[in-house]
Amino acid sequence: MTTDGKNNEKRSSVVSVPDDISLFQVFDEDHDRFAFPGPVYRVTGGHGGEAILIAGSQRTALIDCGMAYCGETTVGNIIRRLSALGRDRLDCVFLSHSHYDHIGALPDIRKAFPKAEVYGSAHCAKILERPGAHSLMKELGQNALELYDPASDKEITTEGLKVDHVLSDGDSVPLGNETVRAFETKGHTDCSMSYLLEPESILFTSESTGIIESREYVHTPCLKSFVQGLASMEKCRSLNPKHICLPHFGLIPQDFNQRYWDMFRAECHAKASYVAEMKARGMGEEEMLANYTDKYWTEAKAMEQPKEAFLINSRHILGVLLKELDELNSQEKRNGF
Ligand SMILES: [Zn+2]
Repeated sequence: MTTDGKNNEKRSSVVSVPDDISLFQVFDEDHDRFAFPGPVYRVTGGHGGEAILIAGSQRTALIDCGMAYCGETTVGNIIRRLSALGRDRLDCVFLSHSHYDHIGALPDIRKAFPKAEVYGSAHCAKILERPGAHSLMKELGQNALELYDPASDKEITTEGLKVDHVLSDGDSVPLGNETVRAFETKGHTDCSMSYLLEPESILFTSESTGIIESREYVHTPCLKSFVQGLASMEKCRSLNPKHICLPHFGLIPQDFNQRYWDMFRAECHAKASYVAEMKARGMGEEEMLANYTDKYWTEAKAMEQPKEAFLINSRHILGVLLKELDELNSQEKRNGF
């Protein structure tokens, strides 16, 4: 890791970021999840979703925005970081996907930086055109506000929640000496994209390729397709990034990269076997959900995700696994894992 004590001290004096919680204590204490190589900084304003700032030699970009309830704090963090760098402009925002915990703060960011241009996948653009998506986003944003900051009188809005420029697989956006390349990585949603920052070689992955929760467990939030999630993982792996930044987590140690991909694949197949076993025992979906929740829900998770959201996601995951059991099983046999 490129951890540099002095540098970290400077980072934390400029920006206020949420305290660490036990869910994220996966690696040794000397591993700093947000000690990015290059001009890359965490500007997250609160629990629930990350916002990462990239100060390219000519243009400044944001990867995801975080949740709406803490949008103003995130904006404050961006402004302080920019001014420490002698800048005042945010030029572009890259969206990993259309979920409220990743893009809820976009309206606040647009208000503070009206010239910022927003990039995302074609599917993400389409989803954000739907009024239903906006009302869901508003409702979930409101729930998160009540959970994480109940004293706040902030009004959750979805104004400006849209994509200005559609990115296709492999497209790149220059930031000066640096480039952000977009890669479609479906599985968590159909609108998911991962972004590779070059030349730093940092891959900001989407949730389609998992989130680390312990040295032994990678969460596999493939709400749409495990088969696609696994294909997305192979695509990310083939890019051979030097650094992997996971959503909701940050950087994993470089020497853990290959093990991470292996763990994700193994966990996808382990979940499929677990569901196959429950199915073989004749369990219905409700009983499966209760079992799944007993196995995977932890109190530490409550800090990052409301239990209702966990249950909704788990229901999707079980449904997808039941649908894809045969395909996953034959893939596993074919590849000999
Ligand atoms: Zn999501």
